[in-house]
Amino acid sequence: MAPESKAEGAPTALMRQYLEVKARYADALLFFRLGDFYEMFYEDAVYVARALGLTLTSRDKGKEDAVPMCGVPHHAASGYIAKLTELGHRVALCEQLEDPRSVKGIVKRDVVRVITPGVIIDENTLDPRTPNFVAAVAGEPRDGYAVAFADVTTGDFRGTWVQSREALIDELARIEPNELVVDGDDELPALVRKAYGRLPQSKLKDGFTDSAACIAFLQTCLGPGCDVEAVTKAPALALAAARVLKYARDTQVSSPLPISALEIYRRDDHLIIDEQARAHLELTCTMTGGHRKGSLLDALDVTCSAMGGRLLRRWLLFPLIDVAAIRRRLDAVERLVAHHGVRDEVRRHLAGLGDLERLASRARLGVATPRDLSVLGRSLRDLPALAEALMQASQDLVPEDPAGDLLHLGGDLEDALAEELTATLKEGAGAQTKDGGYVNDGVSAELDELRSIASGGRDRIVQIEARERTRTGIPSLKVKFNNVFGYYIEITKTHLAAVPADYTRKQTVANAERFVTPELAEYEEKIVSADDRRVALELAIFTVLRDKVAAAAPRLLALAAKVATVDVVAALAEQAHRNGYVRPEVDDSETLDFTDSRHPVVERLAAAGGFVPNDVRIDTESQQLLLVTGPNMAGKSTLIRQVALCVIMGQMGSFVPARTARLGVCDRVFTRVGAGDNLARGESTFLVEMRETAHILRNASRKSLVILDEIGRGTSTYDGVSIAWAVAEHLHDRIGARALFATHYHELCALCELHPKVVNVAVAAREWNGEVVFLRKLTPGGASRSFGVEVAKLAGLPAAVVARAQDILRSLESTRGTAAGPLMVVPRDDKAPQLGLFDRPPPSVAPASLAQAFPWAHEVIERLRNAEADDLSPRAAWDLVAELQKKLTSTD
Ligand code: ADP
Ligand code: MG
Repeated sequence: MAPESKAEGAPTALMRQYLEVKARYADALLFFRLGDFYEMFYEDAVYVARALGLTLTSRDKGKEDAVPMCGVPHHAASGYIAKLTELGHRVALCEQLEDPRSVKGIVKRDVVRVITPGVIIDENTLDPRTPNFVAAVAGEPRDGYAVAFADVTTGDFRGTWVQSREALIDELARIEPNELVVDGDDELPALVRKAYGRLPQSKLKDGFTDSAACIAFLQTCLGPGCDVEAVTKAPALALAAARVLKYARDTQVSSPLPISALEIYRRDDHLIIDEQARAHLELTCTMTGGHRKGSLLDALDVTCSAMGGRLLRRWLLFPLIDVAAIRRRLDAVERLVAHHGVRDEVRRHLAGLGDLERLASRARLGVATPRDLSVLGRSLRDLPALAEALMQASQDLVPEDPAGDLLHLGGDLEDALAEELTATLKEGAGAQTKDGGYVNDGVSAELDELRSIASGGRDRIVQIEARERTRTGIPSLKVKFNNVFGYYIEITKTHLAAVPADYTRKQTVANAERFVTPELAEYEEKIVSADDRRVALELAIFTVLRDKVAAAAPRLLALAAKVATVDVVAALAEQAHRNGYVRPEVDDSETLDFTDSRHPVVERLAAAGGFVPNDVRIDTESQQLLLVTGPNMAGKSTLIRQVALCVIMGQMGSFVPARTARLGVCDRVFTRVGAGDNLARGESTFLVEMRETAHILRNASRKSLVILDEIGRGTSTYDGVSIAWAVAEHLHDRIGARALFATHYHELCALCELHPKVVNVAVAAREWNGEVVFLRKLTPGGASRSFGVEVAKLAGLPAAVVARAQDILRSLESTRGTAAGPLMVVPRDDKAPQLGLFDRPPPSVAPASLAQAFPWAHEVIERLRNAEADDLSPRAAWDLVAELQKKLTSTD
């Protein structure tokens, strides 16, 4: 228990104060400040003690109505609060509003801030590169739905409206809020709870009754930042936005939010990547384990600043569909790809910048520390050099519209504010204000004087020490300081006899005695009072400065957004350069044509040069549905995903992993991964699989890209083939979307005979001595068998089991043609290329393992691949064959 609280009079009065505050914040855990601790009482204490593993004690122990209590030291509170918000709780911070030393009786206390899962401003709790959104939804079936969301640490406040509940749920998934504000008793919260069980929901106090009230509220808070016409047309959006804003404002009891505008976007202005696709394509986290490492975001994010990191994430989750806007981004990236030197310099400047967005917001919220403002000042001071460096990248450009140039910072770079911040605050100032020391000399004459009194006083103490040593003849005499009785003289036991009579003994310690003198007391008084005044003055100077930054916050946030854009563009350029990406030719066609395309993540994991690039073309004219067959582990999933990833990257404004790329803009990307292949949802049932497939068939358009991986796997073979067949037909005939269909049902290859725009391709694999060799190369035609048994052998299944499986397979295959069911209408594809390039290896070769065989096999394949058949004379061809044959026979 904090010592100060005992001096506060009757405990009942204190508890009355507690209960009064608690009543107003009944839905939060109340952290009640008592001296150096935050204390919790009653049920809060019982719960928090259990949840955080704290010791539960009680106030007025032993009495009958003892109050359960637990506490945490105030300087360590943020870690405990973070754990509670992570569990979905709200924490109300109740502070002492008066200096206990200057008050008799109970200190005035009240809540200064509420910390909630979606409204966190503690920099140690937040991930620098991920936004923390609080969201609200509204609407009903007839007029549609809306979602609005805000991040109070960056001022990001957006909203959109959608037609269906399905789209609403999906948009929420893209936003990934950490908290949902609910109001009244509409059915939406229950719906959201069903979809996202773990998303904490919080009730809005004093909610809104009608949309007129909402619009009025938005207008009051945002002024011109609220597009009244737009929100009037979309009442659900007005409601959702007002709820979020009101809720967020209520958490910041006395500080204004850094939010100055509601950005309304249309969901279909962006490439829609629904939840499944985001998960399957591992855009921001991996399917297994949900780690950022291994995701596309992680592979792309080499931004230099946290604000750039957040914006890159936004570009990735909200790619564009407007060709001109995409090209504008690509133009900017291209310029920094071309100008190596400029890129390096720009990135060097960016790396030195602080998080301008969060720093400006912290000033606005009244929580910025001297360190924050010092970093902000230094960052602003460096902006002109960044702007200068960027100018070099646009030198060869006709500046048609410099304001629209993503690489142009333009406008006011806040030089004056930068100057004031850096002149006032020390470089490297700390986060604490309680000891002062962060304001520069020369800022205030009064401050300088107080400092010299304090340091003059300290000099005087040193003089006193020297003088007393001479006077007493005790060489070890020391003047020291502690908080209990200030300055004192310490004399070791051996010299006690020489202590003069004018010393007053205060304390005995292990090997010495401590004394005070009137002279020391007098200087101490002088030093301490000057010091107190100095600390107070520094705080006052700082507060004025912070208010100035708070007032400038909207401008600073706009500037930060430009800097973040530069950071993202430079990062994408850097990646394009490092990984050999190419600028896609983006247009409104319905063609996707990539030569030598790669998977941006798998490529990095493969050994250098180990990833085999592939050409893929799909369009709506002649090759609309690509049926990709091949054995397990051949690389089908990788191939079809890399096409989707190239589309997403291109539409976000990035170069893509390919040698050439043409990208006819897509409106949506869908993926469906068959139950058997979907590891993350181990429990996934056939029903789920079919529901997701139905979702795709309902929502895909001619402009969409559909990636289907092994659908129909969750059921028996005949069912599976039949469903996959029907789905493919529907996509082909009715929807006309571009689609990639990976399947190990080679029966599906017959689709291409009935449907002109279905094209069979196979990821090549070859059998060798009963082993399978993966070539990873896409070849025309379908695979004629699946190599499952060979893969099983590769995986180490016992030889007896493999042999038995081979027997069974043979007998099954011999009867297949006569079986009843869908297979009868599915003729086997005899156009597939013959297997067995190495079916009959030369007798002299008996490699013990695949690894031994592979090096030269690989070389032979490469030689064949690179041979220009059209240009080869018959003689040269003969020579080549002879040479390769020799290679095959001399492998020892
Ligand atoms: P499938 O879906 O056909 O079973 P996957 O796409 O899952 O096969 O690929 C299996 C493994 O092969 C992957 O883990 C990947 O490491 C590797 N792989 C896939 N494609 C390539 C490629 N083009 N080049 C090199 N390795 C690849
Ligand atoms: Mg697969």
